[in-house]
Amino acid sequence: MKKKVTIFGSTGSIGESTLDIVKNHPEKYEIVGLTINTNYKKLLDQVSIFKPKIVSINNPDSYKRFKEISKNNDLKVVNGHDCYDEILDYKTDLVVAAITGSTGLLPVVKTAERGIQIALANKESLVCSGSLITNIAKKNNSMILPIDSEHNAIFQVLDSKNRSKVSKLILTASGGPFLNRDDDLSQITPEEAIRHPNWSMGKKISVDSATMMNKGLELIEAHFLFEMPEKKIEIVIHPESIIHSCVEYEDGSILSQMGTPDMRTPISFALGYPDRISTNVERLNLGKIKKLTFYEPDFKKFPCLELAYDSLKLKKSAPTILNAANEIAVDAFLNKKINYLSIPKIIEKTLNKTSISNVNSIKDVIEIDLCAREIANDMVCSRKF
Ligand code: MG
Repeated sequence: MKKKVTIFGSTGSIGESTLDIVKNHPEKYEIVGLTINTNYKKLLDQVSIFKPKIVSINNPDSYKRFKEISKNNDLKVVNGHDCYDEILDYKTDLVVAAITGSTGLLPVVKTAERGIQIALANKESLVCSGSLITNIAKKNNSMILPIDSEHNAIFQVLDSKNRSKVSKLILTASGGPFLNRDDDLSQITPEEAIRHPNWSMGKKISVDSATMMNKGLELIEAHFLFEMPEKKIEIVIHPESIIHSCVEYEDGSILSQMGTPDMRTPISFALGYPDRISTNVERLNLGKIKKLTFYEPDFKKFPCLELAYDSLKLKKSAPTILNAANEIAVDAFLNKKINYLSIPKIIEKTLNKTSISNVNSIKDVIEIDLCAREIANDMVCSRKF
């Protein structure tokens, strides 16, 4: 029987990579639902190829345009952020959660509540709600399969029978586009920041990679996903992005997963799980690569990394605040309202200005997120940070 798949965020790079894999395995997968924000033209193409039963378009104008053009009477077309229940009413075995940012939180919660398997690309949902999500998933037998490449690598080499024997998780980081840049970083433009050396990704995550907040968010993601204290998670710079992360065991063994930097590998792992499926990803040729390099991260040059470790030490609502402030700061940078070096300043000040509280429910998460956004936004508007 075919596995039924729904993609939240089908026109982004994760969504497109997922559909590429599905296209190559028509005997294995069937697309049930697709959701997008604005790119209705790309959705029209996807609908004609994959024939989903339901699609959701968040942007009202894009929704209207899609409805005008689409002549498919068998397709249910819905609109808005609150339509996830309607989408999940269509039976699906696996949801690929690929919406960027904390707007991806509610769809992940709804999926977990229904006990549906989640291929999780949206790290922000774990960062801002922490163990709430993993507990909802556990309670409802919803398995979370990480497709963030680092967490997918750890998932692949984490020996569940010997979890207590894990001494360390090692998250690898490419170092982003500014690893070796030492001139005046305040002059960096959004165009330079989104030019990642190894991975092709969306704008927000590309800026996060440039500031290394992406690794900071991944540190928090790993902490919640694998229930590992922050002092047992190490970050190492590995510019080639060949080793996608490692697990060190108490006997000194380090197990890692390697591959060319292509998101189709972790996505296919999640789609096929517990089996493996073929991909046309370029193969590694170690003889040609010759050498792999590793460095310790520079916390001074990339203060976002330190902020992420600090928020994890503070626990409670601190990671939620960190994530919200980062989203506002990155958006302001992309819209040329602030410079690159202001991003960590805004995050740090938002953390200092907001009282750290307990997070007992998803409602708490949403309130804390909104409050932190307001504070960060005020800073952007008043230019006081
Ligand atoms: Mg990653």
